[in-house]
Amino acid sequence: MIELRNIHKIYNKKKTTIQALKGIDLKIEQGDIFGVIGYSGAGKSTLVRLVNYLEQPTEGDIIVDGQYLAEQSPKSLREIKRDIGMIFQHFNLLESKTIYQNVAMPLIISKVAKQEIKLRVTELLEFVGLADKASSYPSELSGGQKQRVGIARALASNPKILLSDEATSALDPQTTQSILNLLKRINREYGITILLITHEMSVIQRVCNKVAVMENGEIIEQGSVLDVFGHPKHLTTQNFVQTVVRTDIPDNIKVNLDKVGTRTLTKLEMVGDHATEPILATLMQKFNLTVSAVFTNMTEIQETTLAIWYVDIQGDASQKQAALDYLLAQGVRCQEVTV
Ligand code: ADP
Repeated sequence: MIELRNIHKIYNKKKTTIQALKGIDLKIEQGDIFGVIGYSGAGKSTLVRLVNYLEQPTEGDIIVDGQYLAEQSPKSLREIKRDIGMIFQHFNLLESKTIYQNVAMPLIISKVAKQEIKLRVTELLEFVGLADKASSYPSELSGGQKQRVGIARALASNPKILLSDEATSALDPQTTQSILNLLKRINREYGITILLITHEMSVIQRVCNKVAVMENGEIIEQGSVLDVFGHPKHLTTQNFVQTVVRTDIPDNIKVNLDKVGTRTLTKLEMVGDHATEPILATLMQKFNLTVSAVFTNMTEIQETTLAIWYVDIQGDASQKQAALDYLLAQGVRCQEVTV
């Protein structure tokens, strides 16, 4: 649906050259909710501006719905861009226009018939839960309601793709959740592919099926959300994951381990069905080991459970090895860790 091939973007400012993007390769499939996460300055906004061609890449190809953007005439570029809606952190609503007029704006610009506009805007305001606010002004709405207007406006021209630039960053946690739920509905009910950028891993965890992690203009890691959360490779990714999934042992537990002189534990990472299986009981019965859980963390990602267990396994060394081999064969990641 959206493909970026070897994208470079260089900004020349006075005597300095800023390499905002350095060889980005990205493929977003139809129906994805694809999250791009990175700290400030990583290049996320630049990437989004290139996808809807507000800016052009210095090098590389951008392909939207099978069409190379660089090869399009102004007219066909306008048509492609009509299929791309966008929502913003600060909503970008017209303060002097009513909610109805804000949502209708893209349709008025496209010279859609008045009656058709009325039907579409009414339907959209209904969809985002603001049917009773049609004649209100933006200043009379809460942040969450304003973002709903922004979403309705972005959907007005029936886009195939929705770009979201930090759309929940200015909202409180509860409102963030309701906006994320709305994005999920848009993806599910309208089949719209969503590309969202954020600096919050919890946003990725709650709505995305795929994620790319950006740093200094590069993608340092990408994959399915479950894989990246389950096995983050790059240190920056690990730091992001750590903000929502506790993967290390809390200090107070380490102090207790010191007291009993335990230093070596086994870390088990389980996804899906494994996460809820009676692993400890199996190890004890099957391999005659004493297994105690020292710290566990279970998190819901993509409607799947991700479990991280730190266990202390005591018993015969060869039985312990057999137990670890057994777990590995079951798809459970095992790792001896010294704490
Ligand atoms: P992010 O969205 O991840 O915070 P940006 O894409 O905004 O990152 O910025 C990436 C880098 O490109 C930064 O160093 C930023 O200063 C620079 N940059 C972004 N836009 C421009 C611009 N229009 N002119 C010059 N430099 C820019």
